[in-house]
Amino acid sequence: MSDIEQFRVECAAWLDENCPSSMRWEGPKAGDGTIGEMLAWGGRKADWSKNPDARVWLDRMAEKGWTAPTWAREYGGGGLDKDEGRVLGQEMARLKAMPPLAGFGLTMIGPLLIDHGTEEQKKRFLPEICRGEIRWCQGYSEPNSGSDLASLATRAELDGDDWVLNGQKVWTSYADLADWMFCLVRTDTESKHGGITFILFDMDDPGITVRPIPLISGYSPFCETFIEDVRVPRDQVVGGVNNGWAMAKALLGHERSMISSAFSERSSVNRVVELAREYLPGEDGRIGDAHRRDSVAALTMDKVCLDLTIRRTGEAAKLGQQPGPETSIFKYYATELNKDRYSLMLSVLGPQALGWEGEGFEDGELQITREWLRSRGNSIEGGTSEIQLNIIAKRVLGLPD
Ligand SMILES: Cc1cc2nc3c(=O)[nH]c(=O)nc-3n(C[C@H](O)[C@H](O)[C@H](O)COP(=O)(O)OP(=O)(O)OC[C@H]3O[C@@H](n4cnc5c(N)ncnc54)[C@H](O)[C@@H]3O)c2cc1C
Repeated sequence: MSDIEQFRVECAAWLDENCPSSMRWEGPKAGDGTIGEMLAWGGRKADWSKNPDARVWLDRMAEKGWTAPTWAREYGGGGLDKDEGRVLGQEMARLKAMPPLAGFGLTMIGPLLIDHGTEEQKKRFLPEICRGEIRWCQGYSEPNSGSDLASLATRAELDGDDWVLNGQKVWTSYADLADWMFCLVRTDTESKHGGITFILFDMDDPGITVRPIPLISGYSPFCETFIEDVRVPRDQVVGGVNNGWAMAKALLGHERSMISSAFSERSSVNRVVELAREYLPGEDGRIGDAHRRDSVAALTMDKVCLDLTIRRTGEAAKLGQQPGPETSIFKYYATELNKDRYSLMLSVLGPQALGWEGEGFEDGELQITREWLRSRGNSIEGGTSEIQLNIIAKRVLGLPD
């Protein structure tokens, strides 16, 4: 038996024994909550009482280093090579095991620290991320700086060995649940892009005020964050003072890859097919309405094309290439596809998609209407679709301004 086959056998046996049955999930069906709500995000404010098995699963996987399987063991990862990491993913999928941990630590700030952090920063933060002990939020957008992010104005001034931060961030996802923020601040007013610094700080500082923003969907997933005289030690700057724009772009590459692969996985067309068969029944299990049947087929083909393109980039990543401007293609396409998918689900539900609360609507129907509203934000978060098209035109296709 080859080493990788041996690894598969051991991995499958360990997962079988250690993954609690409640953490094995059958996949999305009409009426399920969003995957985001079911995942364990960790952090000091996590409430494990609702699902103690999630805690058990996290601790067991973290002990093996398998919350971040391909990160180095010395930083809390599993030290697996890419092939072993893929086998672990396949064996988890076979068992329908939920990921033990989710969040910006694993998908954004962790990868950035691995590439650009100092040795002390890696040793300090990466193991805490792998064990799910700290949850992170992203302090990029400001009231007057969204698409034109480099115009950001939150100030950082040096006072002795500390930077003193003052300003405001907005749309900070889950800032109310986060322990630490990775943040862009202005350290030089002379140069727009060259005056930005990437810095990390603890959200427990008394100078931080977080105010959740209620949304049309009924949720409050993001916040206004006020920063007043927050002192941050100099060694919490990542990538060097006034080099924050390079860090910001590197992290956005990771963010856009994460968003597109999350939506690609989540955009399972099976759910649309199931709904169409249920609400528009035809003969022999076919979708009864020819127009909707065409739309479902077109969506399925678009999804397959996206998956294949993402897989091709995954192969490039195996050769050690970092995510570049082409992540904008996935971000653009995956989020537009997800919005189309929800529009199609609403069209399949017909008048049953018009409910908000009360009698006459199934829970699953009400849930889809809310998820549809949430999906409208997909093409805004992580940089709007218009901005992705600008990046593709300029940096991928090399077109003139
Ligand atoms: C669900 C969600 C979660 C988010 N989470 C976070 C987070 O955790 N942290 C964080 O920092 N931010 C977060 N954001 C904020 C997000 O990054 C910004 O909303 C986004 O970058 C757009 O900025 P803006 O809202 O200021 O819009 P604006 O920049 O004001 O844009 C308004 C409109 O003008 C268009 N536009 C602007 N400039 C151009 C141009 N040059 N060419 C063509 N069109 C243009 C835009 O496409 C958009 O349609 C989140 C947003 C959403 C929706």
